[in-house]
Amino acid sequence: MSNAFSLDGKVCLVTGGTRGIGRSIALALAKNGADVAITFASSVEAAAEVKAEIEALGRKALTFQADAVDFEQAENVIKSITEELGKLDVLVNNAGITRDNLIMRMSQEQWDEVINTNLKSVFNYSKAAIRPLMRQRNGVIINISSVVGLSGNAGQTNYSASKAGLIGFTKSLAKELSSRNIRVNAIAPGYIKTEMTGKLPEDVLKKIEAEIPLGHAGETDDISNGVVFLSSDAARYITGETIRIDGGMAM
Ligand code: NDP
Repeated sequence: MSNAFSLDGKVCLVTGGTRGIGRSIALALAKNGADVAITFASSVEAAAEVKAEIEALGRKALTFQADAVDFEQAENVIKSITEELGKLDVLVNNAGITRDNLIMRMSQEQWDEVINTNLKSVFNYSKAAIRPLMRQRNGVIINISSVVGLSGNAGQTNYSASKAGLIGFTKSLAKELSSRNIRVNAIAPGYIKTEMTGKLPEDVLKKIEAEIPLGHAGETDDISNGVVFLSSDAARYITGETIRIDGGMAM
């Protein structure tokens, strides 16, 4: 009997796959049968570790040091994947950063860096991936947004604008590509334990946890399980959706 959740034979790309949520997504996709490529900004050693872990699962792995902000680098990554792994089925736009500050103190650089890394990168990879996805008339794009894009957060105007922008982008692209059988969805994680959130002071973390209905922070595999589902045929009738995985935080 075929398993609708299986990713056997699929080729996936995860941007920002060296750490945190991206690393967890890359490994979960491989565990469920996919060959996986990852990109990263600077973590060369971590990228090699993720590649070795994917290969230990019996899957093919590629790594690319590529700044997600740069369109030409995105095009080169997609070209290399289709040449080396034969095709592309699933694009997970995960790379993201924070540069938090109240707007009174926020510099233009902090604004631009976050908008470019979190939002322009998603345009870059989606645009570069569309040709191979359209050619096979089948494909999945998953954008990692945030609950902050839904409910806002003081000190994160740049970050919440980028993550809310991703949700509008997801719906528009879903409408553009649905006739080609390409599904485009977003996941809005709540507070997940990673290096990104590890920078927050202990008292701020306690306060956040107290406001989460399920009472605790999420783990990276809470997000990667959602990505595996959306990547699989089990989610074949879902497009243009944003799924909150946040312990109820943004209800
Ligand atoms: P981490 O900071 O742990 O990892 C970020 C990843 O993105 C790394 O692999 C990093 O590569 C890569 N990256 C950063 N900038 C670039 C760039 N310019 N080009 C290519 N790759 C880049 O983040 P998280 O795992 O915590 O977050 C992953 C995603 O989930 C982000 O989009 C984040 O906004 C979102 N999210 C996270 C939440 C959380 O609670 N952690 C909550 C809601 C959303 P390198 O290792 O080389 O630096």
